[in-house]
Amino acid sequence: MQTQKVEPTIDDKPIPLRVAGPSTQCVHAGEARQKMADAITDAICCSSTYTFQSTKSVIDFIEQKQPREEYGRYGSPNEKVVERKLAALDNGEDAIVFASGMAAAVGLYMAKLNAGDEIVFFDQCYHRSREFCSKHLARFGVVTRQVPTGDFSAMEAAINSKTKMLVSESPTNPHLTVIDLEQFAALGKEHNVETMIDATLASPYNIRPLDYGVDYVWHSCTKYLGGHNDLLAGSIVGSKEKLESVRNLRGIMGGINSAHNLYLLERGLKTFALRMERHNQNGQAIADFLAKHPRIEHVYYPGLSSHPTHDVAKRTMRGFGGLITFLIKDADWRKTADVVDACRISRIGPSLGGVESLIEQPLVMSYFNYPPEQRAQFGIPDNMIRMACGIEDTQDLIDDLAQALDS
Ligand SMILES: *Cc1c(COP(=O)(O)O)cnc(C)c1O
Repeated sequence: MQTQKVEPTIDDKPIPLRVAGPSTQCVHAGEARQKMADAITDAICCSSTYTFQSTKSVIDFIEQKQPREEYGRYGSPNEKVVERKLAALDNGEDAIVFASGMAAAVGLYMAKLNAGDEIVFFDQCYHRSREFCSKHLARFGVVTRQVPTGDFSAMEAAINSKTKMLVSESPTNPHLTVIDLEQFAALGKEHNVETMIDATLASPYNIRPLDYGVDYVWHSCTKYLGGHNDLLAGSIVGSKEKLESVRNLRGIMGGINSAHNLYLLERGLKTFALRMERHNQNGQAIADFLAKHPRIEHVYYPGLSSHPTHDVAKRTMRGFGGLITFLIKDADWRKTADVVDACRISRIGPSLGGVESLIEQPLVMSYFNYPPEQRAQFGIPDNMIRMACGIEDTQDLIDDLAQALDS
């Protein structure tokens, strides 16, 4: 029996990693130097509750706010490691991890918005997030406004004395519009309104919105951060002060992760930067290939000079990610589906950011029951395909797409 006292939750010697490169941060940030049983990896700490040695130690914990665990819904050792790592990757002071990306967004909105408050969205944002505000927070008196993506004058015009938050995704899905974050953050500051960016498609490897003055970064960790299509999780990164109310609310709502899920996320994060290099490489190479292909009508990819927001992307992003949207020339929805069905490597499915490439036709996958006018309004033509490049060999993915387009 080991009798030595082990405290896996306490950072014995935190590594000063804010200045380290992204791969070093991925591997080491947020972890204690010496861990339980002298293991190199973090133990999966399965415990719903945490015990105290005596009544005195309970009182000490309450009065001195000692950094230890109390009850699973308020935090756990595995969660602390993941949160510190995520905060380091986004150059943020604090991160809060939730059971899914949506749980994270809901947690932020619920903590920050009151009856009578207003929130303004750029219209290409993740639609479930806007839906939560327009359908559900509306029942509690919150007003949701929506303006065209990238139209800062329209966003400014939508701001009034009740506006509490500006929200955008960047790059957006599936059109990959990149937002000028400096302008976005400045607009918020000018009107004393907080700003939030869904940076899931960029990931902290390609852009760090907090560096531009944005208040909150939202990630679906289900995508690039987890990276293996084997978990759901979400996070909000920002200042400790701003996130305190979000953390308190999460403790009440309970949208937290199991120790096993957090360990999977921590393990995924170790190779995050390495995987992003390949996602970026595959995304650019496949976009270049498709842009020259005779069967392709149009390619949306921020790394192509033809993309309307290529300049701001080039100025602010390290790479342009693995998501590519393209239109098949002279194809109805069935002919477009034939291309999707002919792929032998990419699997058909929603989601993105995992090691396995995924391909889908937005009309079928996300908008099948929408009337044509509404699909047109969302910019989803019948001949659109969205490919989420995994980390397979670049040439294999290109060869596979070539044979699918030729078939
Ligand atoms: C997947 C996704 C979300 C939602 O995250 P979940 O983990 O599925 O809840 C939000 N925004 C973007 C851009 C996404 O791709």
